[in-house]
Amino acid sequence: MNTDNLFIYSSSELFILKNNTLPRSIPAEFDALKADEFSYRSLSGKATVVTLKRTPDTPAPFHEGGYWAPLRSVLGSTEPALALLAAPACRALGLANWHRDTRFCPRCGGALRDHGRETARYCQECDNLLFPRLSPAIIVLVRKGSEILLARHAARNTGTWACIAGYLEHGESLEECVAREVKEETGLTVGNIRYAGSQSWPFPDQFMVAFFAEWVSGDIVPDPSEIAEARWFGADSLPAIPPPGTVAWGLINAALHESENPDRTESERFVLTPRP
Ligand SMILES: [Zn+2]
Repeated sequence: MNTDNLFIYSSSELFILKNNTLPRSIPAEFDALKADEFSYRSLSGKATVVTLKRTPDTPAPFHEGGYWAPLRSVLGSTEPALALLAAPACRALGLANWHRDTRFCPRCGGALRDHGRETARYCQECDNLLFPRLSPAIIVLVRKGSEILLARHAARNTGTWACIAGYLEHGESLEECVAREVKEETGLTVGNIRYAGSQSWPFPDQFMVAFFAEWVSGDIVPDPSEIAEARWFGADSLPAIPPPGTVAWGLINAALHESENPDRTESERFVLTPRP
């Protein structure tokens, strides 16, 4: 295989050599498990992503030369070689998910093929060109004095307290989306909505745009279809929060460590992993 960067995924686990670099070729043991392969251009040359067949009961195949790293753990890693891999590995998984799910033209039902020059798929039947899809979403840390708003989701990761988040709707600005999601999920009105940062989150195709906002009015009334519980927390009473490498972790740390870094603005304090 002629490629500059090879990403081998089994579900959202990335195969990495023991020296924390990418393999140069597909180990022969993985050949029979190959489900999909797709190449695209990247800043560091031609990249190829290979996905292996995976069932819920079957672990990723063993290979003595390397190991399988959940992409979420790569995103939170401060190990320099893994930290360098985070962004290109996000792109590879997002494109692999898109390629897997974009097999037929949504307009006419014709079979799609890779475009070749563009990172896109093409329908010969009706000339439809499909580019990789991103689903934009907001995530917001709401502050009330020295306290922050955190919520437990009703259906997923129920033991973790995170920030309010939701998908952008047609016709809506990101700031309007922030105000709507907070209102819908907690009943609170917020203002002074400020951009914090962003993150690619290819599980399967989200693009997270992070904000800070201030409580303006209202008492917490969770929407039970989304939120099991929402509460205000201070820095000394923090519950279990998402790990480093997530925007929620970055927002919470930027807000709570204000007094330790008074010379930095809140967006400068917003980082996704602990500073070295
Ligand atoms: Zn078509």
